[in-house]
Amino acid sequence: MAYRVKVVREFSAAHFLESYRGKPEPIHGHNYRVEVILEGDLGDEGYVVDFLEINSFLKEILPEHRNLNEILGGKSTAEILAHWIYDRLKERFPQTVEVWVWETGRFAASYSER
Ligand SMILES: [Zn+2]
Repeated sequence: MAYRVKVVREFSAAHFLESYRGKPEPIHGHNYRVEVILEGDLGDEGYVVDFLEINSFLKEILPEHRNLNEILGGKSTAEILAHWIYDRLKERFPQTVEVWVWETGRFAASYSER
């Protein structure tokens, strides 16, 4: 398979790590940037998957203005968040290959199955 597509969305959420260097972090927020990568053959229409469909699906599932600890537990890292998004996206779009989560402009983590 030769084609890859990427869709980017931002959302804001709060979280804290229950154990960061041995202590709980204070609760704080991030403006997360999520990049999802899908791979596949071209359909009859000439695209792998409809960008707008991915975009609205992400809008639906990204926990905007939520406390991520309520969803992910106390290890609400970018890695765990990337995995959580990946599982949901993969269910709806089997072409999903990787999800990146940028916690700040400089720090990001991804999840993929290979
Ligand atoms: Zn943080």
